Amino acid sequence: MPQLMPAAFFGHGNPMNALEHNRYTDAWNAFGASMPKPKAVLVVSAHWYVNITAVTAMRMPRTIHDFYGFPQQLFDVEYPAPGDPETAQRIVDVVRPTYVGLDEDSWGLDHGTWSVLVHMFPKADVPVLQLSINAELPFDYHFNLGTQLHALREEGVLIIGSGNVVHNLRLIDWNQPGEGTDWAHRFDDDVRSIMTSDASQLGVAGAHADYRLAVPTPDHFLPLAYIAGLSAQADAPTRTLLDGYEMGSLSMTSYEVPAA
Ligand code: ZN
Repeated sequence: MPQLMPAAFFGHGNPMNALEHNRYTDAWNAFGASMPKPKAVLVVSAHWYVNITAVTAMRMPRTIHDFYGFPQQLFDVEYPAPGDPETAQRIVDVVRPTYVGLDEDSWGLDHGTWSVLVHMFPKADVPVLQLSINAELPFDYHFNLGTQLHALREEGVLIIGSGNVVHNLRLIDWNQPGEGTDWAHRFDDDVRSIMTSDASQLGVAGAHADYRLAVPTPDHFLPLAYIAGLSAQADAPTRTLLDGYEMGSLSMTSYEVPAA
């Protein structure tokens, strides 16, 4: 049996985490250092939420600064990791008959990816690909596509979901650093009990009483569906890598599907 690489979901939170050093970024750094160097990293980022499923296939993906209102220092960040067109083609082949398009010149690496990877692999010496989240398709599509990506783990590819389990920017309260509201805790706790027992049941969270507050739009939640699919396919429960809340309406809870 080839060795399985780990897979993980990270709450990326505030883009400023790219520049900061805190307990979240320390955990990302420790996670990167904990494993043999991956052949490539495939990131499902909340910030590539479009009407098609595609994988980046360029040799040198650009660093995308997809935000505004932040300090110039954040716009100056470059994450010059190479791409990996061969692994992009491999992904297209592995998930057939599900269609994944090859993106040669449209996207690149958005801040959902690089704000975490600047800490996980600071030398930018591991090839990085992104998989878009198809906004037109339901939860089960994303979960099932996650299960199909299992084969990549056996080939040395590290798969990362980057989003936030609880992500409601309209209800951000800057006076609550490090805090979460009652509904944020309730939703995050119930998702955690699913993820750490039987991740194949994650879709049930869509019927949770606090879902509309915690997940006003699916973009930051769906990267977790991929990690749930990988956990189910490997028949390996996830474990919590770290947890935390920010500004009332963000949860930073992160999960690992361990290497095996
Ligand atoms: Zn985000």
